Amino acid sequence: MGYSAFRIIREGLTGNKGWRPVWRTPEPKSRYDVVIIGGGGHGLTTAYYLAKNHGITNVAVLEKGYLGGGNVGRNTTIVRANYLLPGNSEFYSHSLKLWEGMEQELNYNTMMSQRSVLNLAHSDGQVDAFARRGNQMLLQGDDAELLDAGGVRAHAPFLNHDNQRFPIRGGLLHRRGGTARHDAVAWGYARGADRMGVDLIQNCEVTGFQITDGRVTGVETTRGSIAAGKVGMAVAGRTSQVGEMAGLRLPIESHVLQAFVSEGLKPCIPGVVTFGMGHFYISQSDKGGLVFGGDLDFYNSYAARGNLPMVEHVMEAGMSMVPMIGQAKLLRSWGGIMDMTMDGSPIIDRTPVDGLFLNGGWCYGGFKATPASGWCFAHLIATGEPHEVAAKFRLDRFATGHLLDEEGTGARPNRH
Ligand SMILES: Cc1cc2nc3c(=O)[nH]c(=O)nc-3n(C[C@H](O)[C@H](O)[C@H](O)COP(=O)(O)OP(=O)(O)OC[C@H]3O[C@@H](n4cnc5c(N)ncnc54)[C@H](O)[C@@H]3O)c2cc1C
Repeated sequence: MGYSAFRIIREGLTGNKGWRPVWRTPEPKSRYDVVIIGGGGHGLTTAYYLAKNHGITNVAVLEKGYLGGGNVGRNTTIVRANYLLPGNSEFYSHSLKLWEGMEQELNYNTMMSQRSVLNLAHSDGQVDAFARRGNQMLLQGDDAELLDAGGVRAHAPFLNHDNQRFPIRGGLLHRRGGTARHDAVAWGYARGADRMGVDLIQNCEVTGFQITDGRVTGVETTRGSIAAGKVGMAVAGRTSQVGEMAGLRLPIESHVLQAFVSEGLKPCIPGVVTFGMGHFYISQSDKGGLVFGGDLDFYNSYAARGNLPMVEHVMEAGMSMVPMIGQAKLLRSWGGIMDMTMDGSPIIDRTPVDGLFLNGGWCYGGFKATPASGWCFAHLIATGEPHEVAAKFRLDRFATGHLLDEEGTGARPNRH
């Protein structure tokens, strides 16, 4: 049964006894047509679109912990389509369109809120770069507005407009960007996939691959062997570890990224604001908490927790641009594991092992990619061909040097 206002009222009046678990808890079968490793946002959307777009329903999602317990439930929930380079631009544009229809499609309240994303510019060169980026966004069919200093002041009066070191010269406003409730996105796609017959199997860690004559035939798990026609990896921060089990040495490093939330406040921040020069970004959740984050912790790690020097660094960056946050109490902080590629762009591709497909390298930005990532990964797994909006997310670009270097970090590690 679907969710509706009528149903909420009826359940409220009858003691809320009619609600049922949102997905089944099946035992793993001995064989599936497709096994997806990882029950995060990307794994769940892939399973959903395999069933919905391609009619492939004999699918299992294997999750070592609980659904949505990874980065999909740990991020700062920013959704946007403000990329510059062909390859990224059309992909994130497609993703934003899927976000806009997600709640209707899933019959699930993901609290998608297009409350805007504002990138601050602090030099004339940065204003020029934002003008170029904004033009590319418009050419892609998305929205962009270049604000001058007065426009930024009117939009976000609470910023430190008199900062001597980082004077605000303007900003790039993307009104269709915003935030969504991250774990509701995982739950909504999980429910949708389950309803079409996908088995969502929790507490089931993949510990190895069965590979015969260069072709994957199944996986080893903590709940036994499972045969598979095809296998898709969507394990985010664990991409290099899981890839190694199949003999893949991937151009990915795992790093910790922390996030923070304050006590609940009355509405005071209109949308997302990013302060790239100090590496700080902030928004306000529907409950009123200020949600913010900053840099990576800058050491390789698979531990989903951060360190205190980075806490101090993020607070300093925040205080320099949004001094009013100093009045708020910090409620909690947490960390997630980012799978960083050397050029800052992701991978959705085949691997050298037949039948084994890779979805990873989402760096800081995989939440907003969630629907399109699943859409395109499902297309690749089902048809064997890359989807047109993800055609540049190739694994071999790191060997050929045809990088998709959105951030200008280059091909070297430790410069993300
Ligand atoms: C603090 C923080 C802030 C962020 N902010 C943003 C943001 O504002 N906007 C944005 O777009 N992106 C953001 N991101 C990035 C985004 O969260 C990730 O890129 C994205 O969630 C990764 O994809 P996923 O959801 O599939 O990952 P996950 O949810 O991590 O899913 C991967 C799953 O694979 C499982 N797994 C791993 N190994 C195995 C195994 N061997 N067997 C079975 N299962 C396995 C894990 O348990 C996990 O559940 C942020 C990330 C962090 C940590």
